[in-house]
Amino acid sequence: MTKKQWNQKELEGFRVLVNEKRDDILASIEQARSRADDIIKEGNQSSIYSSHMADAGSDQQSLEHAYSIINRESKFLNYLDKALQRIDDKTFGICFECGELISKDRLAEVPHATKCFDCKTTRR
Ligand SMILES: [Zn+2]
Repeated sequence: MTKKQWNQKELEGFRVLVNEKRDDILASIEQARSRADDIIKEGNQSSIYSSHMADAGSDQQSLEHAYSIINRESKFLNYLDKALQRIDDKTFGICFECGELISKDRLAEVPHATKCFDCKTTRR
């Protein structure tokens, strides 16, 4: 029986995949952050010119939305960083629960997965 581990070539393939996702996330965090900055800037201006309450409300909402994106994506970024660490350790893509390899399809979808589909879905 072969050892339950992805080979180096496969691990490098996963690294490319994780890095691509990472770039996407960094871009979307950057986008949300600059949108939040714009809203804050505009908000400051509109308070100087004592403007409409309705606008202030929707600004607040957009701002919260931007921050929730930043929050969510930062968490995801953290998971991906850990996945990169596991690629270095060669423990990437191995189920924490049963020690089996996680399917490639699942890893392509969720590269930071730490459990195989079976362990994830069956609660014991
Ligand atoms: Zn498992």
